[in-house]
Amino acid sequence: MKQTYISDIDRMKNGDSVTLKGWAQEIRIMKNIGFIILRDSTGLVQATVKRENEAFGDLEKITRESVVELSGTIPEKVVSKLGKEITVSSLKVLNLAMVPLPLGIVDEVEADFDTRFNNRFMDLRKLEHQRIFKIKSALLWGIRTFLMNRGFTEVQTPKTVSAATEGGAELFSVKYFEKDIFLNQSPQLYKEMLIASGIERVFEVGPAFRAEEHNTPRHLNEFTSIDIEMAFADHNDAMHMLEEAISAGVENFLKTVPDSEKVSLLKEKPITPFPRITYRECVRILKEEGIDQKDGEDLNNESLKVIGKRFENFYFITEWPTTVRPFYTATLEDERDFTKSYDLQFKEIELTSGAQRVHNPDELKNRIEEKGLNSQNFEFYLKTFRYGMPPHAGWGLGLERLTQVILGLNNIREASLFPRDRTRVFP
Ligand code: ATP
Ligand code: MN
Repeated sequence: MKQTYISDIDRMKNGDSVTLKGWAQEIRIMKNIGFIILRDSTGLVQATVKRENEAFGDLEKITRESVVELSGTIPEKVVSKLGKEITVSSLKVLNLAMVPLPLGIVDEVEADFDTRFNNRFMDLRKLEHQRIFKIKSALLWGIRTFLMNRGFTEVQTPKTVSAATEGGAELFSVKYFEKDIFLNQSPQLYKEMLIASGIERVFEVGPAFRAEEHNTPRHLNEFTSIDIEMAFADHNDAMHMLEEAISAGVENFLKTVPDSEKVSLLKEKPITPFPRITYRECVRILKEEGIDQKDGEDLNNESLKVIGKRFENFYFITEWPTTVRPFYTATLEDERDFTKSYDLQFKEIELTSGAQRVHNPDELKNRIEEKGLNSQNFEFYLKTFRYGMPPHAGWGLGLERLTQVILGLNNIREASLFPRDRTRVFP
């Protein structure tokens, strides 16, 4: 087992002995002295080897990125700009790295995208790339803990399905013995069926598949969806749960991931509640500003940019037109053309869609047919609404999208370990 990490050196005093294991990021050999910049997942340390030490002979044998074990002591005076130093007494090579490397770790300029992602294991050796995933993990952990504390049960639903959640072109079909089936684009129908089961509050963190035709900086073909559904709740309850969950996630990574505040656009936990603006208010503003936005249609990119400028970071756009939302979205009681729905935005970027859902089975069946879908295919789902279905609400939040916007990453692929896009299904 690995006992000591490079970050532990901060708590040591001079003369202490230490054994470290990691990667030899750089090796420099001078006349009477040699240096290894050793890296582990917690940071870098300069390891100094004196010529009189027998380890000096091994320095010439090791290559960049070889895995080594170094034993030594903390010196009296630290001169390295890394702020951490050890004086080596013994060096053990655990595994040599081949030469040349498929991707440089210390190069100033970032390699091109394909080289980076074809060699993602090397690309992730850059600690600033690793940190994205430590933040993503802590963000998710904070959200999970929050939901658990609010009485939600984490569930797992099938990703191979015979009916599409919403129909549409964004579906991948796969061969399933003699049948063609689909990869699920959202756990929506399953979450709702679990509301009918009486669990009352469920959440799922799992893959969602979308056959996005075009490569964009904010779409993946496989992403991680954080989904919740809650019984006896409306859209306002669900929005409240969302802003508190995100705030808890941000608070958790800022507290637990070293240096995360240096790369996060959010330096402290976001203040809740987030501002809310209705769709109709957006359209009014856009008209005023002379933006070409058709009333009753989805807000286009230009419109979202203009609206996004009015808010510091997170805000909700609420009450979208019925025509632009999925069939399961509840409408306002007194205005059937508008819905109890919302998107959470970060500036111009959408992070979440959610709503109160239709819970009346007859209305739901009509809404399915109005969308031109065959309600027969949804019988397994409709059935669960006929024997005691509570009013319910929920949302779906893209984890990579959230990580991307919080860290200000230009491309969502940076927030996916092994991204899948229109052309990349490798490695
Ligand atoms: P967009 O308009 O950005 O394509 P959408 O409205 O099609 O998103 P929803 O079905 O509302 O997406 O999914 C809920 C959330 O899942 C989105 O708000 C987003 O955070 C995330 N998401 C959806 N599609 C993708 C994708 N292709 N890649 C990454 N995240 C996605
Ligand atoms: Mn959406």
